[in-house]
Amino acid sequence: MAVKIWETLKNLLSLRSLRARIFIIILVIGIVPSVLMQYGILNSYEERSVQNRISTVQNQLMIVGNHLVSNHYFSSTTTNENVINAELEMISNLYEGRVMIIDSSLKVVKDTYGISEGKTMISEEVIRCFQGERMSHYDREHGYIEMTTPIVDSGSSNDGISTIVGVMVTSISNDAIIATMEALNREAMILQYLMLIGILACALILSTVLTRPFSRITEEINAVKAGYSDKTIDVPDYAETVHIVEAFNQLLKRMKTLDDSRQEFVANVSHELKTPITSVKVLADSLLAQGDAPAELYREFMEDIVSEIDRENQIITDLLALVRMEKKVQSLNIVPLNINDLTELILKRLRPIARKRDVELVFESMRTVVAEVDEVKLTLIMTNLVENSIKYNKEHGWVKVELDADHQYFTFTVSDSGLGIPEDSLPHIYERFYRVDKSHSKDIGGTGLGLAITKSAVLLHRGSITVTSVEGEGSCFVVKIPLIYIAEA
Ligand code: ADP
Repeated sequence: MAVKIWETLKNLLSLRSLRARIFIIILVIGIVPSVLMQYGILNSYEERSVQNRISTVQNQLMIVGNHLVSNHYFSSTTTNENVINAELEMISNLYEGRVMIIDSSLKVVKDTYGISEGKTMISEEVIRCFQGERMSHYDREHGYIEMTTPIVDSGSSNDGISTIVGVMVTSISNDAIIATMEALNREAMILQYLMLIGILACALILSTVLTRPFSRITEEINAVKAGYSDKTIDVPDYAETVHIVEAFNQLLKRMKTLDDSRQEFVANVSHELKTPITSVKVLADSLLAQGDAPAELYREFMEDIVSEIDRENQIITDLLALVRMEKKVQSLNIVPLNINDLTELILKRLRPIARKRDVELVFESMRTVVAEVDEVKLTLIMTNLVENSIKYNKEHGWVKVELDADHQYFTFTVSDSGLGIPEDSLPHIYERFYRVDKSHSKDIGGTGLGLAITKSAVLLHRGSITVTSVEGEGSCFVVKIPLIYIAEA
């Protein structure tokens, strides 16, 4: 359990888990836009508030500036100095700031803080303002806005050109805007925390729900693995799970087929090996039961026992040949070989059997064939086919062996005038232990493994084997093998 939790945690942290990925994606998609929105809205609110404040204060200052000019504030003949000073005080109180009036000789003539009056103010902003440039600057860090406003006299000169007679340097506090921003920020944060909780819950639920089908697949596969169930599994939630499950079910089916065929093979082997032993036991028991049986009977029974032992031996030899042939890692001993010579040699060996059964054996070679083959396995192929044609033949019958080749393959054809194979048996003749007529096949010493061995050997050479047969008329087996051996990539 602890190991499982640790595994899950490790997968989540390393982001290898689909669930962790979905969780993080939902979290990011949910949170990032709301944070950006909050940041963007608050910023644009601040910008707009500052701009509004600047233009409102500038307008007020321009009005005051006009009053200054109309009341000759900068000359000694000023009349309403107190009224104007009160106006300035009012602005500075209203906006929690400071207003300084600077005359054309850059002298501070009025400072609502009363600190700098009489001093000379030389700053870039002031000089540029005297050249007609209005300036404003927002110092966010210290929370104030600074601006310069020209005091324009539009009627003092005779040629109607306006002159700048002074400059107002104003700095106003931005505390009100900052306070509003802080309040807004607080509300946004509360909203964001609530959203975060909602998104977290959503991400958790969605990531669990969306990945549940995959957990179900794992559970079902584990059940099959542990052996609780051998049923096919079914998780139809997504197209992806359907594909995974389909692939798994196919694999399961293949494994089941393999298992069934293995069980059938073991049962067949046991049965085949048991039959001669049972016969031996019956023969031996009947001898023992007779007590003083004559020597001739002993001899006859012993001959039967030897023939059963030979049969057992034959089955074991064939089985070993088949197992070796079907081993995946096959060591083929491929050498260039004259197939004509090999066929002649095999037919020479089989001729006595053919003669014994009164079967004529003919060989027809169209050309000389040299091919890259494994001599032992090709001998097995040829011997089995020719031997079968002799075994399953009629009296005075014939077997014809033909050898031909094109530029790619050589063809080894064995046709006979034998018993033929019934049509419904044709698909089964390469199966292990399959015999068309069990008793007849046994009589002539067949184990039912010959064609299975032959087919495996042909496939090892990347060749093919086909058969045509008419029951009662004869059969024709055609083996096609590449002249040049192609090793598996
Ligand atoms: P066996 O060792 O019994 O001969 P095989 O695998 O070689 O087994 O052959 C399988 C069955 O196919 C045989 O039992 C036989 O009935 C049939 N068979 C094979 N070759 C021929 C043939 N040339 N003519 C007729 N029947 C054949």
